[in-house]
Amino acid sequence: MKRYGIIGNPISHSISPAIYNAVFPTIGLVATFEAWKAEPEEVAGFVERLRGPDLGGMMVTVPYKERVMTLVDALDATAKAIGAVNCIVKRDGVLTGYNTDVYGFTRSLAEAGFAARGCRALVLGAGGAAHAVAYGLAREGAMAVHFANRTLRRAEEAAAHLRESAEMPLETGVVSAEPDALAIACAAADIVVNCTPLGMRHGGSEDRSPLDERCLRPGLWVYDTVYTPPETPLLRLARAAGANTVPGLEMLIYQAVAAVQLWTGMEPPVDVMRRAARKALGFDA
Ligand code: NAP
Repeated sequence: MKRYGIIGNPISHSISPAIYNAVFPTIGLVATFEAWKAEPEEVAGFVERLRGPDLGGMMVTVPYKERVMTLVDALDATAKAIGAVNCIVKRDGVLTGYNTDVYGFTRSLAEAGFAARGCRALVLGAGGAAHAVAYGLAREGAMAVHFANRTLRRAEEAAAHLRESAEMPLETGVVSAEPDALAIACAAADIVVNCTPLGMRHGGSEDRSPLDERCLRPGLWVYDTVYTPPETPLLRLARAAGANTVPGLEMLIYQAVAAVQLWTGMEPPVDVMRRAARKALGFDA
């Protein structure tokens, strides 16, 4: 039986085994999916083991998405552009690093009914998720992507990186994370995407929203990449204000859909993966 897995640290909270072990049998793949806790000095060994016949493919999570870039044989263009790998594919003995977070975000956004072409976007945060989201928006034809971040310097770096990596020219900018500045920036935006951990269950800020009511209005799209709880404080406020909301679990599910497509060439049933993820997170208990 082939083995697949995810490396990261910490990893015990990962719901990836639940998602992949639910979907593999439905596409006739006889394989198991495991969570592997890796210390920094073990990461290269895990990637090397992937060359053996028993392992089929690997997901990579925090804090190793950048580190594995130097350990694979080749990089997909998207992974190279955003500087992070979350999925390793083995084909004819060659290990290629992909980034499926971008697909996870853009596909879930399209499924929700948002057309990114020509939009003005505000991204909250400047870390790994913000880079993937901003690149995805740019690739889908956004007219402008602005970053608001607690540390303004990192927002400036994210904007500069986006200008360099985007395939088409677009307007970029930075905004202070102060409430007044955010209210003005939101008024000019069609969509706001939270890429900070604010509102995350067990994250120490579960009751906090990165935006207040003044930022929210009917017709605005609000996407929260935080996927637990199912309705974060931001999404609750946004829904109450009449905004369109998209929860982060959809990004998580579609990045896993893309991984299965890359590993097997098959189209997995999304509903099976969503059900398994919701069950593992205790949403339907
Ligand atoms: P990261 O690289 O560590 O970046 C975190 C960002 O959040 C930074 O910009 C940081 O600001 C900001 N931040 C952290 N704590 C904050 C606070 N208390 N107040 C205001 N800003 C704060 O993390 P990441 O990998 O981008 O992940 C960010 C979040 O995205 C995660 O919590 C996760 O929920 C979500 N995510 C979801 C998916 C999905 O599939 N749904 C995938 C990836 C990530 P500074 O620069 O000032 O430190």
